[in-house]
Amino acid sequence: MNDENTYQLALKQLDRVAKKLKLDPNIHEKLKYPKTTLIVSIPIVKDDGKLEVFTGYRVQHNIDRGPSKGGIRFHPDVTLDHVKALAMWMTWKCAVMGLPYGGAKGGVCCDPKKLSERELEKITRRMTNELAPFIGPRKDIPAPDVYTSAQNMAWMMDTFSTHAGHAVPGVVTGKPLEIGGSFGRLEATAQGCIFAIMEFLKHKKKKFQGCTVAIQGYGNAGSVAHKLAEKAGARVIAVSDSCGGAFRAEGLPYADTIRHKSGCGFLEGLPEAEAITNRELLELDCDVLIPAALENQITEKNAGRIKAKLIAEAANGPTSEEATRILFERGIPVLPDILANAGGVVVSCFEWAQNLMGYFWTEREVKQRLYEIMALAVKRTVDLAEAEEIDMRLAAYMLAVRRVAEAARIRGLYP
Ligand code: NAD
Repeated sequence: MNDENTYQLALKQLDRVAKKLKLDPNIHEKLKYPKTTLIVSIPIVKDDGKLEVFTGYRVQHNIDRGPSKGGIRFHPDVTLDHVKALAMWMTWKCAVMGLPYGGAKGGVCCDPKKLSERELEKITRRMTNELAPFIGPRKDIPAPDVYTSAQNMAWMMDTFSTHAGHAVPGVVTGKPLEIGGSFGRLEATAQGCIFAIMEFLKHKKKKFQGCTVAIQGYGNAGSVAHKLAEKAGARVIAVSDSCGGAFRAEGLPYADTIRHKSGCGFLEGLPEAEAITNRELLELDCDVLIPAALENQITEKNAGRIKAKLIAEAANGPTSEEATRILFERGIPVLPDILANAGGVVVSCFEWAQNLMGYFWTEREVKQRLYEIMALAVKRTVDLAEAEEIDMRLAAYMLAVRRVAEAARIRGLYP
């Protein structure tokens, strides 16, 4: 993926919504730029005794509505422009969900598949050390993202707390339960996505039960979406990871699929399934397509061939602007990323609130509150999209940007 494209895409989306909202040009100008951009060097001694320096980024896009919030990913494609786009999307995501946050994102340019657990721990701890003056429960709160997990968050929390001299669980979310994590956080992104699909279908007087589903990406978002879709009575007919995909018209049982993936690390060779490519998966005839891998998967090149009746973006930025237009013209609704994958940050917000209170909720409470927030955000987005005869991405952006712009206007500009 071309990084300039990701950032250009984020700016183009902002321009489109600014025009539609007739946004104050001064506020539009402010929102184009991240508030803070950090580039850090992360030197570590690798297992073979050689020193290697990795580059890490943390971008805080906006803090008008509260501290900034967003994940940290470890991936070879991470660059500054890439992180800038992801940080801006976090601002809109938090705003559309009504969370008291601004947006941020971070990343380390590395290939985690080629690093040992010890090396990953060193990168995480050194990155946290470099970011320490800029993050904190009232400043900026990281979380897991692509190829980072609850374990990385535990190392971050431990490093930050060691500096502080006391436990600071609220500095990161997505932590293990034992150190202040929340029930439901692991499933939250996929759970939110499934709630969003169900609410959308309910609005259209349809049911998720019996729907055929194709899922691209089989990490935290994709694999849990498989489990929850199956639980909700849908039939998951195709799944994929970075090495390729598997298809079975009768449905791929979650238990068999995750056993195979956990055993050998990939989906290739899944018994009783047909091998398909990621491209074929995206173009499958199905009721719901869930892109849950990386950016820019549905573009003007393949948007005309998409046969899904609904797309729910569990991944960030999987659909280009041009593809969004083509899909809208073809009558294929897209539940946009800032809405469809917001379950993760919603439950992250719950985790943070529980950490600040020192009082914890049950799994049922978490799920119920997540449902309420998702259902309200989907309803507002669908209502606006229908009233204005626009796509749901533009509608969600209008709701989000309006909230951020209003906060910026009321707070005013210092000095
Ligand atoms: P993950 O690291 O757990 O999994 C990523 C998955 O994508 C892996 O299965 C990998 O094999 C697959 N993948 C990588 N490259 C691919 C390719 N070219 N084609 C097909 N599959 C490919 O990451 P995740 O946390 O599941 O995140 C996936 C997406 O969801 C990202 O866009 C992320 O930003 C977004 N997201 C995640 C969360 C969360 O809480 N985990 C929250 C919001 C958004």
